[in-house]
Amino acid sequence: MSGFGIDLGGTKIEGAVVDPARPDCAVCRLRVPTGSARGYSHVISQVARLVGMLERESGVKRPASIGIGTPGVIDPVSGVLKNSNSTCLNGRRVREDLAAALGTEVRLANDANCFALAEARFGAGRHRRVVIGLILGTGCGGGVVVDGRVLDGLHGIAGEWGHNPMRGERTPCYCGRRGCVETVISGPALEGFYRELTGRRLRLPEIAGRAAAGDGAARATLRRLRAKFGEAIAAVINIVDPDAVVIGGGVGNLELLYGGETREAVLRHVFNTELRTEFLRPTLGDSAGVFGAAMLTVSSSS
Ligand SMILES: [Zn+2]
Repeated sequence: MSGFGIDLGGTKIEGAVVDPARPDCAVCRLRVPTGSARGYSHVISQVARLVGMLERESGVKRPASIGIGTPGVIDPVSGVLKNSNSTCLNGRRVREDLAAALGTEVRLANDANCFALAEARFGAGRHRRVVIGLILGTGCGGGVVVDGRVLDGLHGIAGEWGHNPMRGERTPCYCGRRGCVETVISGPALEGFYRELTGRRLRLPEIAGRAAAGDGAARATLRRLRAKFGEAIAAVINIVDPDAVVIGGGVGNLELLYGGETREAVLRHVFNTELRTEFLRPTLGDSAGVFGAAMLTVSSSS
C-alpha cells in the first residue's frame, strides 16, 4: 500500500505518493498554494483538493491514513494546534478537521520532525542511531530521531531548540520570551544584525558573499552565527549526545557551519574534551518534508 505525505507550509502545500518499498523516491509529487490569507477553511479545502489531484495523477486511491507535516504541534492535552507560524491554524482541531475533509485517518506531525525522520531514515543521517534534524532558516525548529523513531515528548516539543534562551541576548521573540536562539541565528535575525551595523538590507547569501570579499560587517555577522550556533547546539548535544546533526533550512546552506572553526565553537560549550558528532548537509532536499510525512503512516503499517 502506497503512503500519502503532505507538507502543509505557510505558502505552499506539497503532496507526494510514496511506495514503501522505495520510500526515498516519490511515485508522484504535486503542490498547491496554501492561501492562508483566505482563512482556515480555505487551507483545509486546499489540502483536500491536493489529495484528490494526487489520486488522479498517480492512479493510487487514498489510503486509510494520510501523514501531514506542518509547523507547530498538536497539544497532547487540548488537541488543538499550537506554535504554528501559520497563525490561522493555531487553536484549531486541525487533525480532526483534515480527517473529516479527507475521509481518512490523519497523522499530524511537526514539519521539523518530518524533516528529521526522513533525513535520519533515508538521507544524510542513515545508519546513525541518534540523529538531530534542524531547520535553521526563517525560524529555528528541530526534531530528535532515535533508532528510526521520532521523539515527540510529553508536550510535543522535543527538539525545539529554537526557543532556548541565549546568554546575554534580550531581543523579544514572537513566542513571548526574550533572547531565544531564533532571535539570534535565524536568517532574518542575522540579516537584521548586518542591517544594524551597516544600514544595508541584504539577504544572508549576499552577506556571506560580501564576507568572502572582505566586508568587515559581513564577517562580523558570520562570526556571530558561528559563535552563537556553537553555544546553542552545544546545549542540545549535552542533553541528547547525537551521532549526527543534519542542518536544513536556508542558513543551513552556509558552508561555514560544517567547518573546523564551527566545530571548535561547539566544543567550547560541550561537556567533553572532544566532539565526534557529525554535522551533515541534508541529502533529500525539498523532499524531506513530504517523505517524512508519508512515513508517519507507512512505517507503522509495514
Ligand atoms: Zn521564542
